[in-house]
Amino acid sequence: MAVDSVAQKHARVPLIAGNWKMNLDHLQSIAFVQKLAWTLKDAQHDPGSAEVAVFPPFTDLRSVQTLVNADDLPIAYGGQDISAHDSGAYTGEISGAFLKALDTKYVIVGHSERRQYHGETDEAIAAKVAAAHRHGIVPIICVGETAEDLEQHGPSAVPVAQLRVALGGAAQGAEIVVAYEPVWAIGSGLAATSEQAQQVCAALRGVIAEVLGDDVAQATRILYGGSVKASNIAGFMREADVDGALVGGASLLLDEFASIVRFQKHVGT
Ligand code: PEP
Repeated sequence: MAVDSVAQKHARVPLIAGNWKMNLDHLQSIAFVQKLAWTLKDAQHDPGSAEVAVFPPFTDLRSVQTLVNADDLPIAYGGQDISAHDSGAYTGEISGAFLKALDTKYVIVGHSERRQYHGETDEAIAAKVAAAHRHGIVPIICVGETAEDLEQHGPSAVPVAQLRVALGGAAQGAEIVVAYEPVWAIGSGLAATSEQAQQVCAALRGVIAEVLGDDVAQATRILYGGSVKASNIAGFMREADVDGALVGGASLLLDEFASIVRFQKHVGT
């Protein structure tokens, strides 16, 4: 890594985000977050070395908020989706106002499962980015190519195009997080190589620079997601443009997830 990129990377606090998808009810979520906090405390995890955030189902958020506030836990939480609308006749949707009322820091936007099963377009995702920013929530914007995209267009063309549209919804000066999640790597056990992740994350940082400026690009955390485990996190985190991970399956395994959060123990080993 060049001297400049090392300094810039160090200015970005890594984020390890656990996407629970449709797993763990509100009681299970309380038990999990409590145990995660104990595990990290026992291991003397320094919250300043890596931020940890969990993304439970909507129905768990109030319980997680109560626990985190009551015990003052250094664990952030977020929603798995947000409505593009603020209120009204949108059955089944969740407003950013409701998420903000629960002190939700982050929201995942444009996860590939939302794109695939709910037909979310890049434009719809841009509208959700705008909704998150209207309510002071940081959107984690997910982009990534399918195996067919990879074969037809190469590694970064699709994620770069997706991000360019999504950034159209970003408010001036408001924080974003970007997650590069190759669709072929999600839940497959077949993670990208750290070199592949670095190549695409660098291209995504380039798009942020074009659309929102250099300072925003250097400050923005770009995560890798797709079959991240304790045994491969260090390789990703050594890359100049990878600032954390969005973790699915492994975020439901307490010791595995805690070990990913403590990746600095494995970097350099
Ligand atoms: C995800 O759901 O965003 C994800 C990356 O899943 P997994 O870690 O299981 O591949």
